[in-house]
Amino acid sequence: MMKKNSAVLLAGMMAVSLAACGESSEAPAENSAAATAAVAAATAAETSADETTAAADTTAAAAVTTADADAAAPTFDLSADPYAGDGVLTVGLNATFPPFEYVGDDGNPTGFDVAMMQEIGSRLGLTVEIEDMDFDGIVGAIGNKIDVAATGMTITDERKEAVNFSDPYYDATQSVLLPADSAAASKEDLAGLTVGVQAGTTGEMVAEGVEGIGEIVSVKSFNQAVLDLVNGKNDAVIIDAVPAKAFLSQYPDALKIVDGETMGFDVEQYGIAMPKDDAELGDAINSTLKAMKDDGTYDALVEQWINNYEAE
Ligand code: GLN
Repeated sequence: MMKKNSAVLLAGMMAVSLAACGESSEAPAENSAAATAAVAAATAAETSADETTAAADTTAAAAVTTADADAAAPTFDLSADPYAGDGVLTVGLNATFPPFEYVGDDGNPTGFDVAMMQEIGSRLGLTVEIEDMDFDGIVGAIGNKIDVAATGMTITDERKEAVNFSDPYYDATQSVLLPADSAAASKEDLAGLTVGVQAGTTGEMVAEGVEGIGEIVSVKSFNQAVLDLVNGKNDAVIIDAVPAKAFLSQYPDALKIVDGETMGFDVEQYGIAMPKDDAELGDAINSTLKAMKDDGTYDALVEQWINNYEAE
């Protein structure tokens, strides 16, 4: 199952990278050759899963070789690595954080972080397996239940005591989701409100720092926190800006966003979290991430998964 998915993702991703090298960069996103090619490739890979999987794998390998050669990325031998030595990189995430990770139409986790990790795994010769779990259990599971985590996780000093982080891969800020008719427009206006957050997130930390905040309701998933908001059980949800936009697109009439800048929230950066005792895996992931940024693959993934996200 995961095998088929990786072929579909890779095929789509490759089509985007290839098309991105062409002249389509000026075209509006929805109409771009890249997006069309990605859909075509993904559909082709999905149509006859078994035969196409093998073909897509071969083509992907060829594309990866070319990309690596272009970017002159060093190759890594992870065969003796304590975590990736079995050829499988188990990636933990919480799939209620669209467009970075969410449950797709086929019931499997999908999204930007999944695509990014599939590409990193492919370039390192590793099979990526996704483990969908509660966010507040992820840091503690790194190095045992899972090898690494890619889940829009903000690099914080507190987490750095338990895990290593890759180089930052995405800038973020917290923002506030509110009922469309809410009068709240500033941090001060959050005083007295019941605010929903996902347990263990920086959104929860930010909520704890708001003076006079009413009740903080920490739940296991952002899906739940947002549902509680839509149903009037909460007055607000503090959540990262890009997922806030994704949830807003699901409930455009019921909700609105006040952005982090207006609220005076700090800028955060996402990193891939890894075991503390594995510098080699960290080097391999950082070099691969850099090569993907240098050869345009990273931007193509941002375009495909974040800029073109549509709620499922
Ligand atoms: N960026 C936030 C954090 O690291 C939220 C991440 C998430 O909920 N997936 O805490």
